[in-house]
Amino acid sequence: MISISFYSNSGYKILRNKERDHQSFRKSEIFTEEVKAIKSEGEWRNILSPEEFHVLRGKGTEPAFTGKFLKNKKKGTYVCAACGNELFSSETKFDSGTGWPSFWAPISEASVEENADNRFGIRRTEVVCKQCGGHLGHVFGDSPTPTGQRFCINSISLKFKEQEGSSDKPKK
Ligand code: FE
Repeated sequence: MISISFYSNSGYKILRNKERDHQSFRKSEIFTEEVKAIKSEGEWRNILSPEEFHVLRGKGTEPAFTGKFLKNKKKGTYVCAACGNELFSSETKFDSGTGWPSFWAPISEASVEENADNRFGIRRTEVVCKQCGGHLGHVFGDSPTPTGQRFCINSISLKFKEQEGSSDKPKK
């Protein structure tokens, strides 16, 4: 596989992978692209508020029951507050009672990455945005949901795009 990386106009690093497919009858070339938003600490400080920077780039945690999306029941998509990558759908949001917006699955394979986090002497799994590496929260395997997973996410790491045409009626 050959990988070429370059930067888009918006400063995002694009990794273009070129692979030859020797399995199929015709030898074809497969191209895949990964978009990585790679910025310096100073650039992130210019883009993010101090509170956003503390959580997204400093792996901080917003106080429980304070986040703006905890009780949001509107239909739509939650995107990364730093880079706009689509992360979670309102369809997988549930009330975990923990004080942070909780979801039982990311919206796609391009949404998040999981890293071991053993800070503070606690074994946890950190969830970061796959595109920019921004800290979102943690994932736990203790929820009574279709996947058994609980993505416990800081509201401040998210922006919400309301689904067009959806009413203000809360979902049941
Ligand atoms: Fe991001």
